[in-house]
Amino acid sequence: MATNQQKGNCYLCGVELGKVAMKNHILKQHSDPAGEQECCLIKVEGMDKRYWLLLDAPTTASLKNLDDFLRRIWLECCGHMSAFMGSGYQEFPMSRRLSAFTEGARIGYEYDFGDTTELLISFIGRTRRKKQREAVRLLARNKPIEWKCAKCGKPAELVDTEDMFGEEPSCYCEACAKKAEVDLDMALPITNSPRMGVCAYEGELDHYGFEEYAKCNKK
Ligand SMILES: [Zn+2]
Ligand SMILES: [Zn+2]
Ligand SMILES: [Zn+2]
Repeated sequence: MATNQQKGNCYLCGVELGKVAMKNHILKQHSDPAGEQECCLIKVEGMDKRYWLLLDAPTTASLKNLDDFLRRIWLECCGHMSAFMGSGYQEFPMSRRLSAFTEGARIGYEYDFGDTTELLISFIGRTRRKKQREAVRLLARNKPIEWKCAKCGKPAELVDTEDMFGEEPSCYCEACAKKAEVDLDMALPITNSPRMGVCAYEGELDHYGFEEYAKCNKK
């Protein structure tokens, strides 16, 4: 059963917390009242709410900046179209500044209008930070879900794209995938993304794994 309770890591200090506690942690520990950039604190969730991100981005940044980031960390497979939508599915222009969204605003997002991945974007606070190189900064991300092989229970490596319609995707270790006669051409790697197993998504632009990220940001 999918639950809401997938813990994540703070990318600024490494602490491991649930989604709500993480928001409070970020506001308390990592906002910099003297910072020159006023930012929106943004929560992004998949339809499966075990996938979540906390981000900040200057109020002067645009939805396009957010779209670019979401594509890199979670979505990009073949350059599909995407859109941010308000209630009633009215589409926001990609040039819309984040300052247009007040604290508490929630908007939808869709990547790929065929095999769509839907996300929910919540503007959950305003913070300040020192000037950053990138507009969108990753503050926290859910830890990878530990998918188990449906046959033997070992950690899974592949997801069967032919069988994505159950409550949980069918995942296999490589050995069992061969035995189970999963068509390996139709299998995709396990990724930490709500787009896992969809279209041709392999997560090759996702360089935001916690271990990898911590290594790169050590001076
Ligand atoms: Zn922290
Ligand atoms: Zn695709
Ligand atoms: Zn197995």
